[in-house]
Amino acid sequence: MSEPKNAIEQATLDLWRKGVMTADEIGLELGKSKNAIVGMVNRMRQRGVDVSRDEVVMAKRKLFHPVPKPIPVQLDDDPKGYEKGHLPVRHLNSRTCRWPYGDTRAESGVTYCGDVTMEVGRSYCREHHTKAYYSPSRRS
Ligand SMILES: [Zn+2]
Repeated sequence: MSEPKNAIEQATLDLWRKGVMTADEIGLELGKSKNAIVGMVNRMRQRGVDVSRDEVVMAKRKLFHPVPKPIPVQLDDDPKGYEKGHLPVRHLNSRTCRWPYGDTRAESGVTYCGDVTMEVGRSYCREHHTKAYYSPSRRS
């Protein structure tokens, strides 16, 4: 059975074998990236170093640190039902104009234009793009 080549490989292997830390966490501990740790472990495995982990500890860890499930975004109603300038913030997406209407201090808050943007990734519809990016002096 081969052995680690140097101190950093030994340190990585010690933490790895315990099975308590993820490659990410070992990387943080040793000042390396997750990929560097995974690569080092793979190279050691290829040289015949025993890189097996404590599976019992790993299983317990998964039990007590379950991966959180993503929470689905709840859209309570259809954005098409809003008049221009009255789109609530929750309905903004990559194709809706973000030109704000209203007062942030008012109880009703701010609503948005909601028109289709000029292109995907642009913030405003054609009308509001012009208002936002061209000064009055240049418009004449
Ligand atoms: Zn607009």
